[in-house]
Amino acid sequence: RAKNLGRNRYEFFSQNLQAEVINNKRTADAILAGIDNGEFTAWYQPQFCARTMELTGVEALVRWNHPTRGLLTPDQFLRIADDLNVVQQLDRVVLETALKDKMRWAARGVVVPKISVNVSSRRLHDEGLIETLTGLQIVPGEISFELVESIFLDESEDIVSHNLERIKALGIDIEIDDFGTGHTSIVSLLKTKPKRLKIDRQLVMPILTSLKERALVRSIIEIARSLDIETVAEGVETLEHAARLRALGCDVLQGYAFGRPLSFENFTEAATAATWRLAS
Ligand code: C2E
Ligand code: MG
Ligand code: MG
Ligand code: MG
Repeated sequence: RAKNLGRNRYEFFSQNLQAEVINNKRTADAILAGIDNGEFTAWYQPQFCARTMELTGVEALVRWNHPTRGLLTPDQFLRIADDLNVVQQLDRVVLETALKDKMRWAARGVVVPKISVNVSSRRLHDEGLIETLTGLQIVPGEISFELVESIFLDESEDIVSHNLERIKALGIDIEIDDFGTGHTSIVSLLKTKPKRLKIDRQLVMPILTSLKERALVRSIIEIARSLDIETVAEGVETLEHAARLRALGCDVLQGYAFGRPLSFENFTEAATAATWRLAS
């Protein structure tokens, strides 16, 4: 019986695996078609000054308007896009969409001081990145690139350090995303001099109940401050979290407590409904 069970289990897994392979292939083809058909876009999540609660900016997050499956989030396609070596094209779509939307907001009197976009490791390794960026209308200080910690391990690579330098020269700020989950050393922090550290949700969520995470978050904020680096807390889900982070000296708050990612239209509506304090 046990043997039978084992075999059934094996068949079950192998069927699952086969289904997954077929499914991934289907998704991969659909991603390539979706890029051509303009199915990818940016949604926006607000970020607020912890002290004044004014809107300081937004994070642009990729979304896929899939023709049959509806709206898809990055967990449903980003890894496959990365495997396919097309994630950098999604990054590009998001940046170009964000720049267009920024102009649309300006035309409607909505002030969004800064837009942060996520940049994949593949894009940061791209030889043609700077040329692409130079062709865009980027106002210094209005765009940030969020890079995950692991990218800074590649900083010894010529192309990465070259791109980082030129990105900064274009007036684009560098932010370290998901900080606290990777292996960034203080030394590499000093070398890169990012504008901001985004403290990962995994560290932020437990701060009310766990002394360990609270101490870690406190130390990160203190170190960042002493290096003149701003801190952003991600995954701020409750007002209690917000109050604690404010007390710890965190600069910027982002999370469901204040706003979920929204489409351009819904974001614009929320921003003009006077429920948010807009910077002037
Ligand atoms: P991330 O850069 O750390 O973005 C924050 C993620 O946390 C977003 O998920 C956001 O919706 C979610 N989030 C925000 N506030 C809360 C909260 O209070 N609680 C919880 N539980 N979650 C919250 P999303 O949009 O699904 O994106 C997931 C990840 O996909 C991003 O994590 C980022 O690593 C990646 N990503 C998103 N857009 C892009 C893009 O355009 N390019 C690249 N390369 N990666 C992207
Ligand atoms: Mg991010
Ligand atoms: Mg993040
Ligand atoms: Mg994160």
